[in-house]
Amino acid sequence: MRNGKVALVTGAGGFIGHHLVKYLVEHGYVVRGVDLKNPEYEDTSADEFMIADLRDYKQCLRVTKKIDEVYHLAADMGGIGYISAFHAEITINNTLINAHTLQAARSNGIKRFLFSSSACVYPQHLQRAPDVVPLREEDAFPADPEEGYGLEKLYTEKLCQYFTEDWQFPTRVVRFHNVYGPLGTYDGGREKAPAAISRKIAALNSGDELPIWGDGKQTRSFMYIDDCVEGIHRIMRSDHASPLNLGTDELVTVDELVDIIATIAGKLVIKRHDTSKPQGVRGRNSDNSRLRTVLGWEPKTPLRQGLIPTYRWIAERVKNERHFSGIAAE
Ligand code: NAD
Repeated sequence: MRNGKVALVTGAGGFIGHHLVKYLVEHGYVVRGVDLKNPEYEDTSADEFMIADLRDYKQCLRVTKKIDEVYHLAADMGGIGYISAFHAEITINNTLINAHTLQAARSNGIKRFLFSSSACVYPQHLQRAPDVVPLREEDAFPADPEEGYGLEKLYTEKLCQYFTEDWQFPTRVVRFHNVYGPLGTYDGGREKAPAAISRKIAALNSGDELPIWGDGKQTRSFMYIDDCVEGIHRIMRSDHASPLNLGTDELVTVDELVDIIATIAGKLVIKRHDTSKPQGVRGRNSDNSRLRTVLGWEPKTPLRQGLIPTYRWIAERVKNERHFSGIAAE
């Protein structure tokens, strides 16, 4: 049954946006999706899908008309290789997208606006050891975020705060910590560690060497996509306006991540570390204390469990690509 609310999901052609559209439709919303492109791997479930470039204010005004809630996920983003390489392009694109979408949403009288921020806002000096102390929301200042992408996210978080304080425009800010799952980007340079490692393992034979970025000792926590979209919806429904972590606190090294995926694949892999590649901060984990207090809930899917459907989906795609490119016949 429809609940009478009309939601706009920006970035609905992307990984999280596509899953969120499905979740909101299943929960009774009428959903408009917007993106530069259609979803890559599966048709959208959105009632309406608009192609628009949100760097352009006029297009932002057009897509935010007759909408109750905006879930703003559109961004120029990618894994560590991508966000380390293109500071100017990423920063200018996201500055335009975020300022214009926020301003247009306010101008069109949107009732609630959720901004998808990132753990990349946290100071780099708090993330120099693999056994890192989990990051609390208040740790973001004094600021020393990831260059480009992280700095812009922090700026837009503040912009949301100012819109709320000065103009009573209701905003929610979610700081995602590494999201993974089926239908996520797994090749082309924008993919993140779980997808990149799954793709490489799917393509190799048992006993082959696996190239790994960094020395394998860097640590991260990873959140499964189903938890992510449920968390987004819960945070939108809450009364909490200031930034909230959304992630898990199950910390693993990159080598451990490789071992889990290799076990799922049933393959023996020989790790070959390449320390000339970007590896981001040394360690990063989410402190979910505030999330638990605000929502009485937190992401619950164990990494091993979420990686099973993720690996299977990527392995199937890799197998089909090899088949169609004729590699399977070699
Ligand atoms: P994604 O790249 O799959 O999706 C982003 C979408 O935004 C893409 O489909 C892209 O085409 C669209 N987009 C880019 N520029 C646009 C423009 N000018 N106009 C309209 N659409 C445009 O990324 P995702 O993983 O789904 O991430 C969604 C949001 O979550 C982003 O804001 C990202 O910064 C944030 N985030 C994601 C993660 C993660 O682990 N996936 C972690 C932290 C933060």
